[in-house]
Amino acid sequence: DPVTTADPAPTSGALFARAKAVTPGGVNSPVRAFDAVGGTPRFIRSATGAWLTDVDGVDYVDLICSWGPMLLGHAHPEVVAAVTAAVARGTSYGTPTEPEVMLAEEIVDRTPVDKVRFVSSGTEATMSAIRLARGFTGRDVVVKFAGCYHGHVDSLLASAGSGLATFAVPGTPGVPESSTALTLVLPYNDRAAVEAAFAEHGDRIACLITEAAAGNMGVVPPGPGFNGFLADICTRHGALFVTDEVMTGFRASRTGYWGIDGAVEGWTPDLMTFGKVMGGGFPAAAFGGRADVMSHLAPEGPVYQAGTLSGNPIATTAGLTTLRLATDEVYTHITSVGDVIKQATTDALTAAGAPHVVQSAGTMFSVFFTDPADGPVRDFAAASRTDGVAYAAFFHAMLERGVYLPPSAYEAWFLSSAHDDRAIQTVLDALPHAASAAAAA
Ligand code: PMP
Repeated sequence: DPVTTADPAPTSGALFARAKAVTPGGVNSPVRAFDAVGGTPRFIRSATGAWLTDVDGVDYVDLICSWGPMLLGHAHPEVVAAVTAAVARGTSYGTPTEPEVMLAEEIVDRTPVDKVRFVSSGTEATMSAIRLARGFTGRDVVVKFAGCYHGHVDSLLASAGSGLATFAVPGTPGVPESSTALTLVLPYNDRAAVEAAFAEHGDRIACLITEAAAGNMGVVPPGPGFNGFLADICTRHGALFVTDEVMTGFRASRTGYWGIDGAVEGWTPDLMTFGKVMGGGFPAAAFGGRADVMSHLAPEGPVYQAGTLSGNPIATTAGLTTLRLATDEVYTHITSVGDVIKQATTDALTAAGAPHVVQSAGTMFSVFFTDPADGPVRDFAAASRTDGVAYAAFFHAMLERGVYLPPSAYEAWFLSSAHDDRAIQTVLDALPHAASAAAAA
């Protein structure tokens, strides 16, 4: 390849400098700043189908899809039409509306929840689910897994304490110790740790929250039977089992990860959280579950929860239109495109001699730059061994050739129904160079 010294993103660079003057780090969510991979974050000006266009006019195949939501690709004509029509009817009334009823019905239809309440972000969904679990059970302790991310809820921004069944310490300045003092952080996929925690604290545990399949430490699926084991131990101790499907919901499959796990193995969560795809690219999220638990929410019950823009008519219209278009064919397409890209990635990395492991959960997958001799990645300790320097080299080599990967080695790669042969070919053409760059890093 010819070595180019020209700045590939001068307009993004100028905008980034302006952004840094008025916004911490120049971004409104940290990972967008490219801190993990270095270089200039691309400011995107528009997007259509599988493609992003940056402010310098460069096109990229999008392999992150807004960190999950864009299941149908960008600016899907039917979603745009529905949203445009909704905007013309007014953007927020602060009253109940028909679209939120229809979206709730669609979610209840696809998942095991009896009732849902809408909020505006995944963070709000998990925060509210935990409040409801505590209010319902009259208990305070929450169990979570290291490497599972549930948004920036104070009590969940927690790192494991010094022993397995000891309470957590804050994972960031600004979270008081009292906020994490009721949180137990355990290693993912570790049944013995879960058993020990319930043996010691079972009668104080309000809920255990887990990503239905972990997607925030790269994709780390639960081991066979693990979620069912969690459901069972929660039931035996009178705790609620909360599965966070903000990322996997309506993405891992038509019915989320539950549809390919709980529905098959025969377990049901007491509460679930959703976000991303169900908002069709707008701020919409939800939590839902058993009718008797949900009836503890205000105004039916005593647990307070509210939101000015909750169930917003534009967001719920976008989500409803997206879910109605998310047919079995969409998931079949995304699965087959994923299979092609996973195989090509592993072939290229193998040919270049770059150690790696590819893992999947339904249609989601990610690539760890770990030694395959260490086996599959089953928890955060193993995920943390991924070679960030190799990933950064891989990422930039892909970016130079028009492929936008997640700017973090700990993210899933996301596809859409709009990823067509041209998009796939662009990825396939870029992979050998990127694999060599990763091997040389
Ligand atoms: N839960 C999971 C599993 C997530 O992946 C995320 C976001 N990546 C959240 C919760 C938080 O959602 P939000 O960013 O909308 O607050």
